[in-house]
Amino acid sequence: MNRSASIVGAGLVGSLWAVFLAKRGYKVDVFERRGDMRKAGFIGGRSINLAMSDRGWKALRKAGIEEQIRQVAIPMHGRVMHSTTGELTYQPYGKEGQSIYSVSRGGLNLELMNIADQHESVNFHFDHKCEGLDMNTCELSFTDTTTGKQNTVDSPLVFGTDGAFSAVRSSLQRRPMFNYSQHYLKHGYKELTIPPNAAGEHQIEKNALHIWPRGQFMLIALPNQDGSFTCTLFLPFEGEESFLQLQSDKQILDFFNKYFADAVPLMPDLLNDFKNNPTPSLVTIRCNPWTYKNKVLLMGDASHAIVPFYGQGMNSGFEDCTLLDQMVDQYGEDWDEIMTNFNKTRIADADGIADLAIRNFIEMRDLVGDPKFLLRKKIAAHFSKKYPDQFLPLYSMVTFSHTPYAEALREGKAQDELFERILAIEDIESRWQSEEVEQIFSSWLNNKQSMA
Ligand SMILES: Cc1cc2nc3c(=O)[nH]c(=O)nc-3n(C[C@H](O)[C@H](O)[C@H](O)COP(=O)(O)OP(=O)(O)OC[C@H]3O[C@@H](n4cnc5c(N)ncnc54)[C@H](O)[C@@H]3O)c2cc1C
Repeated sequence: MNRSASIVGAGLVGSLWAVFLAKRGYKVDVFERRGDMRKAGFIGGRSINLAMSDRGWKALRKAGIEEQIRQVAIPMHGRVMHSTTGELTYQPYGKEGQSIYSVSRGGLNLELMNIADQHESVNFHFDHKCEGLDMNTCELSFTDTTTGKQNTVDSPLVFGTDGAFSAVRSSLQRRPMFNYSQHYLKHGYKELTIPPNAAGEHQIEKNALHIWPRGQFMLIALPNQDGSFTCTLFLPFEGEESFLQLQSDKQILDFFNKYFADAVPLMPDLLNDFKNNPTPSLVTIRCNPWTYKNKVLLMGDASHAIVPFYGQGMNSGFEDCTLLDQMVDQYGEDWDEIMTNFNKTRIADADGIADLAIRNFIEMRDLVGDPKFLLRKKIAAHFSKKYPDQFLPLYSMVTFSHTPYAEALREGKAQDELFERILAIEDIESRWQSEEVEQIFSSWLNNKQSMA
């Protein structure tokens, strides 16, 4: 067997998957549209960070680079909510000792490339833009963006990890029986910065993810190693409160002073950032099948791009690598079996996390400040402590466990029914530890177990 593979896209998932394949002794060619970010000195660029959780860590552990990344990751133990009047409320994310971690996206990508590069069998080809796939031969075609020259590459295995607007997927889309959907949110986003203070320290609590929930929109902030925070404003493109309404300096400042007054003094470059940074859109992409001729496989955002509100886009892409690698063990490098089974089992999970991510947007922007929602969290934590083997809050299941996402979505719906009944109890605020609540929980649990 010719143990070689081509990977299209040296982003987070492509670079990590190159490490997995190289560890198995495959010869790997990675083709990336952009130049080598290591030469381009990305470090000076804007810092964008991502929340890494247990599914992501598991994949990095398997690749042997967990410790290296942990050293530069900042633990966020919970959410700090900022009210319009500047009051702060804190909600832990999980049990004592459980955190999500803020990591630099560029820094992580760079480390993954470096680790992949340490394997002699991995070759990166930068400035190589994939133009598509020949559907008869599965040959990939590329344009060298520095010379304009075109070339083709034939490889026994092709992995399309070229992101949400994948060229590999575009070729597959032209085949009959390929299902595809893309759905844009009405919201876009804008990245802003809270710089460090004069001493180089974080200006607000470092070990937390900050949220300014405002109903239809929100601002969030994640910490960086250099003392700064990367903030993201999620706001509708059009409507009463929208990007369209924020054109002049006065409109921008009035909006921020009205809704995020405590953040404004922390952002001296607010106006510049707001006017100069782009306003990208947010898309959910689903497709099926992810495979072609059991020779081509889509992974990461190329097969399942989701909105960022559960912090699971990269994590789910990294989990693709873990699960696929497990299947390589299971099926003894029989790629017909591996691709068939990966396609069969993983798409439902990708759909699950896509739905959960949209649902969490409503929770983050609208509910995290709602007293009933906070009470629900408190009762959920109580059940989880009292019945650790029978009850895991949905957020923990998605973030701190490896339960398949489709199962987590089903559990989330079941937990909604449970809390609907509990929160309907009169004076629930003072009676949440009553016998009545315990009885509702027991009957819910019995019902769930009998259906299983
Ligand atoms: C605002 C925002 C916040 C997010 N926050 C989180 C978070 O907190 N936690 C989390 O887990 N996820 C988060 N995500 C999602 C995460 O960024 C993605 O899921 C992740 O980057 C997907 O990795 P990927 O390798 O599949 O795709 P990408 O990272 O998009 O990489 C694709 C690569 O392919 C290259 N490429 C594209 N087209 C071609 C071509 N034609 N030829 C060759 N190369 C090509 C690109 O240059 C790129 O290097 C967030 C996303 C957004 C937008």
